[in-house]
Amino acid sequence: MRWMEVARVMIPFVAFDFLALSGRNHGDVGREVHVEEERQGDVYWMKKALDEARLALDEGEFPVGCVVVSEGEVVATGRRRGTAHGPGNELDHAEVVALRTLMAQGGLASGKKATLYCTMEPCLMCFAAILLSDIGRVVWAFEDVMGGGTSCDLSSVGPLYQEKGLEVVSRVRRNESLALFKAFFSRPDNAYWQGSFLEQYTLKAAVGA
Ligand SMILES: [Zn+2]
Repeated sequence: MRWMEVARVMIPFVAFDFLALSGRNHGDVGREVHVEEERQGDVYWMKKALDEARLALDEGEFPVGCVVVSEGEVVATGRRRGTAHGPGNELDHAEVVALRTLMAQGGLASGKKATLYCTMEPCLMCFAAILLSDIGRVVWAFEDVMGGGTSCDLSSVGPLYQEKGLEVVSRVRRNESLALFKAFFSRPDNAYWQGSFLEQYTLKAAVGA
């Protein structure tokens, strides 16, 4: 028997033994491949949200960007408005801007779900708006230690919110998002959340933490 023939015979047994020794079955391997693909997808789509955040920063706005993705396509984008000249408003958050854009386009097709990528953890207002939309997953980059709403205990609120089963994934491309917030809070003319706990936390936050 030539070497190539031996290899052809042996490979299925080697693969089988590996699976047996590792205590896995084919279903587990399939799930791991799916999780890895999902993680790589999250890293890829968060880059698009970061592009929106950079545009917001260039416009003098608080650098939050958002994209909504469904079936491998960006179906809506949004970035923060209303902060460039002082306290501004607390309605035009990037997630709300993106969800409004999605609604203006007629929303998702019936039965479709989407993932929302945001460069900062959604606040309580945005988290509630997301729960009431067709978003099935939320992926965020930098933690909002002052106003983040995704750790809200949904068992303590009404059944409308509890039954959504929303999946939340945190800290994807966190350092790139943190760099934008550090740049924003380092501007001497910034008046948005100046002197706040969020500003102090962000300027001290370690990259990689
Ligand atoms: Zn918000």
